[in-house]
Amino acid sequence: MKNILKDMTWQEVKDALKSTKVAIIPVGSTEQHGLHLPLGTDYLTAEYFAKKIAEKVDDVLITPTVPVGFAHYHTSFEGTLSVNPEILSGYYQGIADSLISYGITHILFLNAHGGNKGTILNVCRNLRSRGITAAGINWWLIVSKMRKEWQTTGHGDITETSLMLLISPDNVKLDKAAVPVNKKLTDKIQTLGGPPCKFKEGNVDFYLMMEDVTDTGNILEYDYFPNADFTVSPAGASIERAKEITEAMVNYTIEFIEEFKKIKFKPTKLQD
Ligand SMILES: [Zn+2]
Repeated sequence: MKNILKDMTWQEVKDALKSTKVAIIPVGSTEQHGLHLPLGTDYLTAEYFAKKIAEKVDDVLITPTVPVGFAHYHTSFEGTLSVNPEILSGYYQGIADSLISYGITHILFLNAHGGNKGTILNVCRNLRSRGITAAGINWWLIVSKMRKEWQTTGHGDITETSLMLLISPDNVKLDKAAVPVNKKLTDKIQTLGGPPCKFKEGNVDFYLMMEDVTDTGNILEYDYFPNADFTVSPAGASIERAKEITEAMVNYTIEFIEEFKKIKFKPTKLQD
């Protein structure tokens, strides 16, 4: 492929860099996704979207996907791999710095995992301070805003399940897909799927392990998506839904990149 780094020779990359200033770094996670989805769900999704973008644009360089992220809170469930944010940050930074050394000026992290968000922003801060334009795009948050029926409801939900039916169908166990139940910490403290837990009128933040929230691994994320329909089962997943979402997300990202290219930051006075 003409703009997928792993498929190119260095001379092809050198040529491409004459007109290419934007790079996409797809980042994911290897973590449990409930009883019905494979551990590779997040990184396979990031990789798939990046590949589809590469098919439609010429002047964007796509790096290999980073398959492991920060997922400590999922490690109650076997097989989950996690890298601490400091190390992950250095790894993302190293990839970005390599690209910058060849003339890339705009770096877009195509992210498929909530646990990576903080690390991506840290790296963007460093890049921004040096005058490099960098951003993180979180597909599930964007898709949720596009159509009411595309609202994601959490980890291992109908949207992720649909995408896996498209990307890795042999590894989806649809007969085990069901609406999860978030556990309570006490009779009066309800987990909401992320750090906030509901107590009476307000929320209180905890650092929870997923075993505190769920017995199966998939969860409802009430805090992320307060208006979603949480009765929708992942068992209703379909390839059709995945295709529509992929097309919408790919087009959104391509349109975003056109604007992203126009941004030219100055280095900050205080270097990060
Ligand atoms: Zn996921």
